[in-house]
Amino acid sequence: MRLSKAFVPTLKEVPADATIPSHKLMLRAGFMRQLTSGVYSYLPLGYRAMMKAMNIVREEMNAIGGQELLLPALNPESLWVQSGRRNIPNFILSIKERDLVLAPTHEEVIGYIASLHIQSYKDLPQIWYQIQTKFRNEPRPRSGVLRGRQFIMKDAYSLDRSWEDLDKSYDSQAEAYKKIFTRCGIKFFIVGASSGAMGGTGSQEFMIESEFGEDTTALCPTCGYAANLEVAASSVAKVGRVESSEPLKDIHTPNIKTINDLVEFLKVDQSRLAKSLVYRHNGKPLLILMMGNDQLNESKLTAALGSGEFSPIGAEDLLALTGADGGSIGPVNLQGFRIIADNRLEGANGLISGANRNDYHIANIDLARDAKIDAYFDLRSIEEGEPCPKCTAPLKISNAIELGHIFKLGTKYSDSLNITYLDENGQAKPVIMGSYGIGIERIVACYIEQNNDKDGIIWNKSLAPYEVHLIAVNMNSKDVETASNQIYDRMIDAQIEVLFDDRANMSPGFKFKDADLLGMPFHVIVGDKGLKNGQVEIKRRRTGERIMVKLEDAISEVQKLLAE
Ligand code: ATP
Ligand code: MG
Repeated sequence: MRLSKAFVPTLKEVPADATIPSHKLMLRAGFMRQLTSGVYSYLPLGYRAMMKAMNIVREEMNAIGGQELLLPALNPESLWVQSGRRNIPNFILSIKERDLVLAPTHEEVIGYIASLHIQSYKDLPQIWYQIQTKFRNEPRPRSGVLRGRQFIMKDAYSLDRSWEDLDKSYDSQAEAYKKIFTRCGIKFFIVGASSGAMGGTGSQEFMIESEFGEDTTALCPTCGYAANLEVAASSVAKVGRVESSEPLKDIHTPNIKTINDLVEFLKVDQSRLAKSLVYRHNGKPLLILMMGNDQLNESKLTAALGSGEFSPIGAEDLLALTGADGGSIGPVNLQGFRIIADNRLEGANGLISGANRNDYHIANIDLARDAKIDAYFDLRSIEEGEPCPKCTAPLKISNAIELGHIFKLGTKYSDSLNITYLDENGQAKPVIMGSYGIGIERIVACYIEQNNDKDGIIWNKSLAPYEVHLIAVNMNSKDVETASNQIYDRMIDAQIEVLFDDRANMSPGFKFKDADLLGMPFHVIVGDKGLKNGQVEIKRRRTGERIMVKLEDAISEVQKLLAE
């Protein structure tokens, strides 16, 4: 492609609304433009990089027996009502006039097709996938294409006869994912993850470490334990018991509302305080007890509660239910609430909690003796430095960006959408499903996050929009014009993907800056100086290393470098 004819609207200035490197660089390099919040147009160079990513994904999906298909973005709303996912918050954009929704993922459509056409065990297993546009009602699109309301996803689905076969399908997807991200040149790690809106029995995420990531992960540098904070555990000590359980005692705590106030006022360690969080779950009052300043982890709470909706109880509602305000609620003699507690409090005594009476707390609470705890769950968010659940070495916490997510769905959709097959004995059995997603934009943006410098992007061969950036230093020189045109034609013949800066009347400095910004792996520079000796220069973008080669060897030298 000749740059003189190409649409590559590069920018000198960093756009003000872009805060992270990939967002800034994709705008500056003319790869994409925002149309409206979370919605982007991919311009020719950006789309070439995305197509490279899609082809790698496609090759690896085909290699494990995936069959590519293409499903519609427009779905009947009724299908999502049937699966129970119509009202997941921040998920579905809808087109009200026609009772249609824009699909945020495709378990429903896959399930619909499978329910009609998978009949017997002979029809299984199946691996279906597509590379297709998704829509999500993201409340806060940001970081450029990393979080859009419209984006391209590779989504694959496995349909199996048994849980053992699902394990095999899942493992082969995991292996394909490793190959995909390795081929793309992305440094990634894998964490155990929450299944969230997809449901099912287990999932893993493929992550890159990044200070800009919206996910938080716990990693053990010693044994390799890795988990999203949504599910991460630690072997932090339990609260435990004090020597003897004393009788309950009211304590006057005027105007004391927070855990820190209580610690100060009573001169006790926060581990002796049982904090009360009050919610409504499916409309019914729920008390959640946590130790001191431990943070409730909403993903763990969602997993513990199973289905349904929950939200904090409002102040007036709480007063009507208990006769007390938020800072004075506790588990002793609390009527009408289901009470659950964090595992850390299991078996504890000598605790202090609210008395369900304003300005009073109760001391010496033995949870087994004085409260009716319905269940204990792991509900807390772990913190940096806590002991690894596997090997007890201190855990590290870091931010990460999710590239891909694989799920063992099990029978969640088979149950709601009635996807069954007849086994060898003619008995109807649910199909066991898995689903596997990768964000195409995230591949490109995460690669750029990991491969850039002050001058621009540093592409590798796998994802580069073009392999070579050919620069005619000065098109007004007849020699340069002739030699660079020749090299360009020979590269095209040799099937080298080349972007040719043949722009006239543009300063060499400007051309070099653009070449560094666009970041193709090799720059071939044709100038008068070199041509005097019959030579052209090859620059490796990543290291800045330069070599002079004979004009007639330019193509073979480039081919050698590309074959590395
Ligand atoms: P996140 O936690 O970042 O919202 P998710 O868990 O909702 O992601 P999945 O439903 O597992 O994502 O979707 C599969 C893949 O699609 C993700 O791993 C990610 O690469 C990509 N993806 C998801 N949401 C977006 C988005 N809003 N913009 C761009 N890519 C996305
Ligand atoms: Mg999401």
